[in-house]
Amino acid sequence: MWGGAITRLQLQQTISRLRKLDELPEGPRENLAVPEGDQTRRLSISREKEIASNLAFLSATTDESLKVMAVCVEEHYNSEGITIRIASNTGDLSAVIQEFMTLAKILEQAARRENSKAEDIETLFRQVVVLDLYRILSRLRSRHRKTWKTAGRPALITQLHEAINDKSVKARSGLTKSSLEAGRDRARALHALFTKLESMSDLHAETGEAHEVVGEIIKQAHEFPLVTLGAALQSSMLEPTSKQYLPEAIGKLARYYSATFELVCAARDRTCRVFQNVQVEPFQIQMPASLQKSPWKVHAEIQLLFFYEFHPRYQRPRFICSSKSACYLCNLFFFLHGGFHVPRTHGRLYDKWTLPDWLDVPVERHGELSRIATRLKATLDDKVRRASKSQKQYHFPNESVLLPLAHWPSSSLSRNLSAQASTSTVQRRPPFVQEGDLSASLCTEMPLTPPRTPLEPPHAGNSDTETRVALGEAALTDVQMTPTREGATDIFTAGSAAKDSKITGYPSEKTSQMALPNRPTLFVVWH
Ligand SMILES: [Zn+2]
Repeated sequence: MWGGAITRLQLQQTISRLRKLDELPEGPRENLAVPEGDQTRRLSISREKEIASNLAFLSATTDESLKVMAVCVEEHYNSEGITIRIASNTGDLSAVIQEFMTLAKILEQAARRENSKAEDIETLFRQVVVLDLYRILSRLRSRHRKTWKTAGRPALITQLHEAINDKSVKARSGLTKSSLEAGRDRARALHALFTKLESMSDLHAETGEAHEVVGEIIKQAHEFPLVTLGAALQSSMLEPTSKQYLPEAIGKLARYYSATFELVCAARDRTCRVFQNVQVEPFQIQMPASLQKSPWKVHAEIQLLFFYEFHPRYQRPRFICSSKSACYLCNLFFFLHGGFHVPRTHGRLYDKWTLPDWLDVPVERHGELSRIATRLKATLDDKVRRASKSQKQYHFPNESVLLPLAHWPSSSLSRNLSAQASTSTVQRRPPFVQEGDLSASLCTEMPLTPPRTPLEPPHAGNSDTETRVALGEAALTDVQMTPTREGATDIFTAGSAAKDSKITGYPSEKTSQMALPNRPTLFVVWH
């Protein structure tokens, strides 16, 4: 591949071998962000991640489990605009692109601050409901959206209503009578709205009202006290699966509103005017004729990564987010590549995963890409060797995107990460705990090389701009050990990257040399 020693067929064979031995090479993992370090960007790291993650969540308009969308937010060099770039691992993107363009116009309007914030939120929220109506109906398990996924399962709101009113749910310490009553009132209101939705004979004939009722359900879900629900369910005799499913499902409904709110806040931010111009562009890597009928797929996240390999002069985003957590191979490839972050992985291996080595990327990048492919295969070979000696029990993780991280001010994020990076060499677990039910997951701050754009921008905003890539301090972490599950330990070693280094002018080889000789090597040890 790319002129190196590894062929695509060899890589695929290794992947197939590993799949036979170990379908779940890693546990679910959260990859925490590196601190901010690039003065040329207007978007902070945390804001970029938040926007891309929200857009990726909204881009999942269907419940086709095999369809995964990836989204990134590319800041323009003049700092006065962004491009929302979208890829999908399968299927047609045109409908989503069309709806995202409307969404982009609303965000541009919000950036102009012509209306009140409440009005902007309401306008965007209406568009979100239009965009995601079928996905929301499916999440609700509404009779209007019967799919194989929802068939035979009770409706979400009905389950919620019954659960919180279950005889076994009682006020106790940690759940006052008044908070339980307030939760029951909310559940009753939601149930009334849902009954109204289900009583509609044809949503297509009553589109306006359907959007209104669904929007109201989302808002009520957003207001629903999840802490009360959690406490009520814990005290009940209900099935453990309900106890886990209900708060997650209500949280996902609520996210349509919180994502809207956060996007409007980002767009209206006076200190970061990048939403004045919002472009939406699809990207799809076509399979070559020889692979048209093959089962191989270029995953959506990999497609976006290769967009920037194919177009090295575009400013690279720092995050590539997707509508589901990244698979094991995508996560590993991003880790070895080091140019972008994916927020999390579910750790599962898909053996039809492939790399688009047929794409005509600039020849200057071939050397590095072939080295990455070699390291990828070596890591997988090592996994094969170890997996062939061990026997594993599988507990397959939920692949859907987990609830977003708790929000913290970007300054405190930087401060905390800097403190960790400067003091720790061995870390059991970072101090951040994410929202949602992540009891089965573990946080790992991966010592990634910070994202970088390899070539000089063609139209930098200031002609004398010295474009810089500052190496993030997280890359300075020397060794991290994170137990992924009983009996397994992942050891990441990262060489020390030069503190405060700046790379100017983007000669691609120089960038590579600066960033790559000490690339982290991944070893996974099974005991
Ligand atoms: Zn993947």
